[in-house]
Amino acid sequence: MDALFLKKLSCLACKAGFQSSKVRRSKYSVTRVDTDFCTFCRGENPLFYNTYICPECGYGFTEHFRAPREKAREEISRNISPFSLDFSGRRNLDLAVLANKRAIECAQLQNEKDIIKASLYLQIAWFYRIEGDMDGEKVYLEEARQYYQIAFETDTEIRNFGRVLYLLGEINRRLGNERDAILYLGRVINDKSITDTGIIRMARERFQDIRGAD
Ligand SMILES: [Zn+2]
Repeated sequence: MDALFLKKLSCLACKAGFQSSKVRRSKYSVTRVDTDFCTFCRGENPLFYNTYICPECGYGFTEHFRAPREKAREEISRNISPFSLDFSGRRNLDLAVLANKRAIECAQLQNEKDIIKASLYLQIAWFYRIEGDMDGEKVYLEEARQYYQIAFETDTEIRNFGRVLYLLGEINRRLGNERDAILYLGRVINDKSITDTGIIRMARERFQDIRGAD
């Protein structure tokens, strides 16, 4: 049996029905989870299939997207055209990166939350890491850092605030921005409103990693 199955979807922008591949749970196993939650798998990696591309209008989205309102839908149809590529089947690095970039473009056009753009950029960095391309990874970690920073400064309704703050610290650490890493990781450890003990423990570990590297 194939590792992939087709999931039925409808486009949030043009409402067209289409299908996109997902990985069967029984067909992959997690072999490694990095300190920024990048997950490596034996078999197809489900991360590559999180973003959906509508074959009719080219709209890209994830399950976290809101349906665009009329004005945003007009913006999207003015700026986005369908791909000639097929995103419904097996995805390599190029297709996964293209899909996420398109979703980021659509997120911009419909004024989607910065945290959603941050996470799409972080996933692109992971795609490159999984494929062993450290230069590509760095470029998109930096994009992710900028959007997590904006979300942290402007979004007062972030769910998983501790996790977002941790990621901001951890991405800064990976980019070599030690001062900012210490600032945000320290806040995870000391902010009394953060009660996620797993995240607090991870922030302490990253703190140690920075100290140990000096
Ligand atoms: Zn569509």
